Amino acid sequence: MTGITQNILQVRRRIEAACLKCGRGPGEVKLLLATKTVEAAKIAEALAAGETLIGENKVQELAAKYQHLKNYPHSTHFIGHLQSNKIREVVKYANCIQSVDSLALAQKLQNHLEREGKSMDIYIQVNTSAEESKFGLPPERTLSAVKEIARLDALNIKGLMTIGLFSAEEAKVRTCFKLLKSIQGEIEALGIARVSVSELSMGMSNDLETAVEEGATIIRVGTAVFGRRAYPDSYYWNENKAAL
Ligand SMILES: *Cc1c(COP(=O)(O)O)cnc(C)c1O
Repeated sequence: MTGITQNILQVRRRIEAACLKCGRGPGEVKLLLATKTVEAAKIAEALAAGETLIGENKVQELAAKYQHLKNYPHSTHFIGHLQSNKIREVVKYANCIQSVDSLALAQKLQNHLEREGKSMDIYIQVNTSAEESKFGLPPERTLSAVKEIARLDALNIKGLMTIGLFSAEEAKVRTCFKLLKSIQGEIEALGIARVSVSELSMGMSNDLETAVEEGATIIRVGTAVFGRRAYPDSYYWNENKAAL
């Protein structure tokens, strides 16, 4: 068994233990491998071991690895900040975009998909930690944005995504996940046609147990499977944000 497959087993055990603790079935939680900066050969190892869901943050990486991985059955979600000039590329390679964080982006996606006669599954990214540096819709604007985005018929809203506060204080991280769960409830109560937010993508290597306890259906794990990355996460999370 390779290091990667061992790490995956360990993460799966953590998910199972967390599910057991809060009375959920392990089948309710999907594992998405966050593969930014990870070379294709290592991702292939994980896919060969039976994993079927990966997430990329950069369109360039998504495109570069696609050829190497396309023969393994899997889905690829885009989980990074999407710049509108990359829409064309991302639509070619991703099965779902988890990081729709503005009405403007949703509208541009709609326009492109319409021209191509395609549709796309999306999640709405919410900035539950209210950190200036993070992308995502402010919680108080999420409901009205979902109502607007629901009218864009090439986009299928499937869930919500958030990045929890980067903190060692579990209670603060938990507040972020609880907030996403409560926004999910508010959206479901509206009963908007074509909108289902049954997926909650939240929790990473450091906080996956908390996320499972608060209702995550997709956990996004990078470091715990592939090891530490050379770049700090801020490089991916607030890229160019100051300039927006
Ligand atoms: C990198 C990343 C992850 C995984 O983070 P780890 O701490 O390495 O598990 C999850 N979600 C997003 C959006 C990421 O960019």
